[in-house]
Amino acid sequence: MQPGRLIVLTGPSGVGKGTLLRLLLKKHPELYLSVSATTRQPRPGEVDGKDYYFVSSDKFQQMLAAQELLEWAEYAGNYYGTPSLPVKQQIQCGHSVILEIEVLGARQINKTFPNALRIFIEPPSFEELERRIRSRGKDGEEAIFQRLQTAKAELEAADEFDLQIVNDDLEKAVLLLENAIFCL
Ligand code: 5GP
Repeated sequence: MQPGRLIVLTGPSGVGKGTLLRLLLKKHPELYLSVSATTRQPRPGEVDGKDYYFVSSDKFQQMLAAQELLEWAEYAGNYYGTPSLPVKQQIQCGHSVILEIEVLGARQINKTFPNALRIFIEPPSFEELERRIRSRGKDGEEAIFQRLQTAKAELEAADEFDLQIVNDDLEKAVLLLENAIFCL
């Protein structure tokens, strides 16, 4: 059996990675979206095991020590990481797997999966990114400030990735994403 492919979707928080993925997965339910572990508190409506595995800092450290994470990063004061096992199992079974992660983690994937397709999602402008992060209304002022600071550095890394897609028009961005995943 042909192994599946690893697809990494990265870019700053608030750029719309999650929305793009929801639309993509509706059209292509055969794609497997990895569920990350995080020490961040759940936002209203988020479900443990679906949106994230919400874990304590101790549990996250245990996972790190046991080498259970494919990649990980500290982001805006919390830890995030990809559990390795489900990703490796799905790929072995021939399924393509998508990781939706920030830039530091996306860089680590280079070492473990050099053939991964790594896509960077860009906002139309920094002002628009700030507007999107604020309009989610789910983060406090301190968290928004941290996310915007991190976003500046993340945007500078866009060229490191295989492909850049501007998320201006959602439908168009999904088509570009589909094209990259199924045709490149
Ligand atoms: P949020 O707190 O908004 O859900 O996520 C913050 C950032 O962490 C986003 O850019 C998101 O893509 C990223 N992220 C989510 N899961 C992971 C993960 O497993 N590893 C890494 N490196 N970043 C992640």
